[in-house]
Amino acid sequence: MAKLIDGKAISKEIKEELKKEVAELKEKGIEGSLAVIQVGNDAASTVYVNNKKKACEYIGIGSISYELPEETPESELLRIIRELNERSDICGILVQLPVPRHINEDNLIREISPKKDVDGFHPQSVGAMTIGETGFLSCTPAGIIQLLKRSGVEIEGKHCVVIGRSNIVGKPMALLMLRENATVTITHSKTVNLKEICKMADILIAAVGKPGFVDDSYVKEGAVVIDVGIHRDENNKLCGDVDFEKVEPHVSKITPVPGGVGPMTIAMLMKNCVESMKR
Ligand code: NAP
Repeated sequence: MAKLIDGKAISKEIKEELKKEVAELKEKGIEGSLAVIQVGNDAASTVYVNNKKKACEYIGIGSISYELPEETPESELLRIIRELNERSDICGILVQLPVPRHINEDNLIREISPKKDVDGFHPQSVGAMTIGETGFLSCTPAGIIQLLKRSGVEIEGKHCVVIGRSNIVGKPMALLMLRENATVTITHSKTVNLKEICKMADILIAAVGKPGFVDDSYVKEGAVVIDVGIHRDENNKLCGDVDFEKVEPHVSKITPVPGGVGPMTIAMLMKNCVESMKR
């Protein structure tokens, strides 16, 4: 079996499945659009928003976008979200993060109806995931579960170490691995003996936000390594939290950057939109 976990191919596979599903829903008269709100013109955000719009187009769901000026007041954003919550043609609402500093991101997330929270960031979605109820799953961690399953990695009974405890990656990742019956250790910046703990992992998930942080001294021989990080190196080349060159010879499977976790996030966003249309 291949050593490289191909996120591009797996995300394409998922998008093809969704495309079929959307066509079937359309035959039954069920349609929906994703609303994407971007505030300001951060270049990276614009790329992400465009990729989301392209993915919608590809699988056959509509998309509407709000490209709002940097100085847009929070009250105006809350008003738009409330309006979108009420619209029956909108299956998902997404606010592209980060937002400018004068806006409280949490207020926006809480205003989105949990029924349309396709990013899975609303406290109600997080709570539902925690107790195993139906709700939208946070896209990046849900994508990683798909990457593992679809590349034949057994999760049940394995020791998974997650580096990072952010609300959007580390914590939901750990919960989803637990749900898959892994034994999970969560580590963070205050963890003592980080290397020793990581070296015990059958599955090591790096969401530390530091380029090349994980080298071969963190990895057990034959482990599976998932790299969530996205950075640009000094030559403007994309790289991850894992030092791929050093780690790759020691693992049984590994995700590359780019082409690993990244493409899965959008695929899972699309999956949540289709799920919302069905609900
Ligand atoms: P974040 O909010 O900055 O969280 C980083 C986490 O790493 C924190 O929990 C922090 O611990 C921990 N950490 C920092 N330094 C550490 C150290 N020396 N040892 C152990 N733990 C340490 O980042 P994030 O939003 O979770 O994102 C993580 C990475 O994933 C970033 O590179 C981001 O760009 C990338 N990302 C990728 C995707 C994708 O689609 N591929 C999606 C989201 C994020 P404390 O809690 O103690 O501070």
